[in-house]
Order: sequence, then C-alpha cells, then structure tokens
Amino acid sequence: MQRYYANLENNELVLSKDDIFHISNVMRMKVGEEVEVVTNNQLFLCKISSFNPLKIDIVKEIKEDHELNNYVRLFICLLKGDHTELVIQKAVELGVKDIVLVNSSRTVKRIEADKKESKLIRYNKVIKEALEQSKRISNVKISDIIDIKDVNKFKADINLIPYEKTGENSLDLHIILKDLGKKSVNVIVGPEGGFSVEEVNKLVNEYNYKEISLGKRILRAETASFYIMSLLSFFSEVN
Ligand code: SAH
Repeated sequence: MQRYYANLENNELVLSKDDIFHISNVMRMKVGEEVEVVTNNQLFLCKISSFNPLKIDIVKEIKEDHELNNYVRLFICLLKGDHTELVIQKAVELGVKDIVLVNSSRTVKRIEADKKESKLIRYNKVIKEALEQSKRISNVKISDIIDIKDVNKFKADINLIPYEKTGENSLDLHIILKDLGKKSVNVIVGPEGGFSVEEVNKLVNEYNYKEISLGKRILRAETASFYIMSLLSFFSEVN
C-alpha cells in the first residue's frame, strides 16, 4: 500500500503538494481507497474521503517497528558534489536517528550562508524520501551546519571517530559493537581530505572520542559512512 508522510494540523492530515499530485495524478486514486500515512512518528491506515481539496480520514493505527535498538547520530563533514546527499540518503536507510552537518578544517565544500536554507530544505526532502523508501516511521533530525569544535555539544554513550591513520585495528571496533546494548552512539566521518591531526587529538583527548579503524584500505568518505552505519545497524539488531 502507498505510504505518505503528513503533518497534523488542527486534527487534519496535511500532505505535501508533491504527495497530493502523486495520489491524484500518478496513482489516480479514488474516494474510498486506502493509504498509509505517517504523522508524528505514528503510522495510520487511512481512507481518502474527498478530492479538491484532498481529505484523508484515519481508520486505525498500525504498529510497526523499523528502528534500530540504538540511537545513532552521524556527523557528516560536508562533501563535494552531491555526495553529502548520498550519505544522508543511505544513513537514513540504515537507521540513523540524527544527522549533523559539519565544517572541518579540510572541508572543501562550504555552503554559503545564503544557500544554507535551500540546502537544508533539499536535505530534508532526501531524508523524507529515504524514510518512505525504508518504511521508517520515526523521524530523522538534521541539524544546521556546525563547526567541528562544537561536536561535543551532542552527547552520546559511545563516541567514535573512524580514522585511517589510527594504530588501532578493526578488532577494537568489534569489541565495542558486541557490547552495544542500548547505548547511544555518535560517529564522525571526515571529509575527502580527512581530519587534521589537531582535530583528531581534540576529539580523542578532550571530547572522549575513540579512534577506530575501518580496515586496512583507505575508503572514500561516503564508503566509510556506509561501512560504519551498516555495522552499527547489524550489531544493533542482533544484540
Ligand atoms: N584523504 C585521506 C583519507 C580520507 S578518507 C587520505 O588519503 O589519507 C575520509 C574519511 O573516511 C576519513 O576522515 C575517515 O573518517 C574515514 N576513513 C576512510 N578510510 C578509513 C579507514 N580505513 N579506517 C577508518 N576510517 C577511515
């Protein structure tokens, strides 16, 4: 069944223009047809009761769980081209709860102040589509772009910094993952140019981040994000 994400305003389900177009012109639905609607982190079975304007009535709540057992926050250092979007999309599919965009010293792509708002609108659209794709019900937050020195404002039980030059090996990550329990996790993945030594030192020594290795090969920033998100997703669900 088709699923849409709506806002609840004055007890009415309000869909986006794109979704209304989809229901009316792409799916060509009729009055009485059923759709699923997610609103306020809840899923409902609904019925279309009229068009122009589109009105949707709630029939009943449906209980489903597509969430990880752990709260995972991914810090993404802004990437070139549309790579940031790609990482956002995949992280949402893999169960991330919170995304924080970061400017670090080697971030190549800076978003101008006047473009920030349109970028965030675009990223929120990517999140919404990925939530729909993966049938998730709970929302994913995306925060405004922060400087790397402000990473410590976001607290979690476990703080991880994948760092290709770490002396640690993949075994250490395995030990952390096996003992995930219900702990919340912060992960920060560097930009194309990686982290500076000063950044790693600050995160490790002052912010209590643990350096981890993602294997013996140097991965692109996108691949590193998929790798760690996939591992967290797997261990969160088998734990
Ligand atoms: N330009 C750097 C690599 C940066 S890769 C170089 O060539 O040395 C981008 C980010 O991906 C890194 O900042 C790190 O967070 C992550 N990463 C890539 N490969 C990794 C590995 N083998 N172990 C841990 N983290 C890795």
